[in-house]
Amino acid sequence: MNIRKNDMVLVIAGKDKGKKGKVRFAYPETKRIMVEGVNFIKKHSKAKGAARQAGIIEREATIPVSNVMLLCSKCNHPARIGFRFLADGRKVRFCRACNEVID
Ligand SMILES: [Zn+2]
Repeated sequence: MNIRKNDMVLVIAGKDKGKKGKVRFAYPETKRIMVEGVNFIKKHSKAKGAARQAGIIEREATIPVSNVMLLCSKCNHPARIGFRFLADGRKVRFCRACNEVID
């Protein structure tokens, strides 16, 4: 998966198309991510003592990673990502638009 936690992403598909946000969690096993402020769902909850109020709470739900593009922190464009190896053998991501290493 080429999207990681704390990346800035642009949503390119789904009901939140066009929104930008920071990746809060990434789930490589299911190829899904949770993005700040994106894909709010309503959850009905019952009161559980004083800690939790009854009612409807809104929270983010995961979206498929294929619905977002990484926003390049260097050129600020939604970036197609490539991989390259550094001299020390590390595999890093780079932006195909500006050619800068993103990691
Ligand atoms: Zn770039």
